[in-house]
Amino acid sequence: MQDLDHRLHGFLDQLDSAGRRRRLRPIEPLDAARVRIGGRELINFSSNDYLGLARHPLLIERAREWTARWGTGSGASRLVTGHLAALEALEARIAAAKGAQAALIFASGWQCNASVLPALLDRELWGDERPAVLTDRLIHASLHMGCQAAGIRQQRFRHNDLAHLAQLLERPGPKLIVTESVFSMDGDRADVAALAALATQADAALYVDEAHATGVLGSNGFGLTVGHAVDLAMGTFSKGLGGFGAYVACSGAMRDYLVNRASGLIYATALPPAVLGAIDAAVELVPSLDPERRRLAERAEFVRRSFAAAGLDTGLSATQIVPVILGDERRTLDAAARLEEAGLLGVAIRPPTVPPGTSRIRFTLSAAHSDADIERLVAETVRVTR
Ligand SMILES: *Cc1c(COP(=O)(O)O)cnc(C)c1O
Repeated sequence: MQDLDHRLHGFLDQLDSAGRRRRLRPIEPLDAARVRIGGRELINFSSNDYLGLARHPLLIERAREWTARWGTGSGASRLVTGHLAALEALEARIAAAKGAQAALIFASGWQCNASVLPALLDRELWGDERPAVLTDRLIHASLHMGCQAAGIRQQRFRHNDLAHLAQLLERPGPKLIVTESVFSMDGDRADVAALAALATQADAALYVDEAHATGVLGSNGFGLTVGHAVDLAMGTFSKGLGGFGAYVACSGAMRDYLVNRASGLIYATALPPAVLGAIDAAVELVPSLDPERRRLAERAEFVRRSFAAAGLDTGLSATQIVPVILGDERRTLDAAARLEEAGLLGVAIRPPTVPPGTSRIRFTLSAAHSDADIERLVAETVRVTR
């Protein structure tokens, strides 16, 4: 259709002239910490594979084994053809690790957030008195998608500002709090204990996204919600666990409800055996990875201190995600390009992903980086931002 074509080109040209056009590009992963792009080898400081598990022999082996045994595809939605007994055992193991009654696996984190929230806010559950949805200002796009699909208007509280949240909680009627335990673009943490206490006190439901905490933080590596009264703790297998997919840990009744109402589960094909095998191996490994988690935390602390000494702003980072906030978009893009010339991949993050005036290079650290990699990161970042 010519009119459509015309509009597409117009839109893309506009993005181009604003310097906002995003482009995909091919890369070749070389090992857990390196990629080849355009014939050049780069140290990867942009991957969320925080523990290097995507290359772990046990995950690869189990993905192979489960594929050999059960094939490459799962055939249909779980409600249509049923699911592997191994998947059910995996959910039980995740529930136990999270200290929850039950867990439910989804095909991806995006899909989970985009479909669990509308299920939770369904009119058939609440009638005319649907909950007020109180969201942290910096929640992930997939949580926005869920709210949008639910057709509700979010009431946003200032980022990690629990006094502001407490104020919003004073309103009468049912309430749902939606936030993250680790924020993806800032690398700071929420105070989950305080959130849980506030939610309990106000009789509000609490939904926490643990995408960037799963595998990396918490007493057993399964995130920051473990041991706290959180109604739905969502997490992904796609980042620190080196695989793909997501889960919610919740009550048994909640799991049963979601099986009946979450369209992302009902109308999507179940994850394939290869992916489930990798998840199974990762979940088995996570509790034993304290040394890797400690190394990761120490490195993040070292990088933050080194950046601060050079006058660079890492915001409120308190995890393996360390942004260098440069503010100006142009300057951020230039710095990222110069880093790449120097052999380091750190991605420039700009509006609308982050608020205007807070453009940044978002570095993610991995236990798979060497000390020399980390030293180069510090030296080159200081050099290109000078
Ligand atoms: C990455 C991410 C998701 C989406 O998870 P996928 O498994 O990549 O679809 C959801 N929430 C947050 C906070 C994320 O960073």
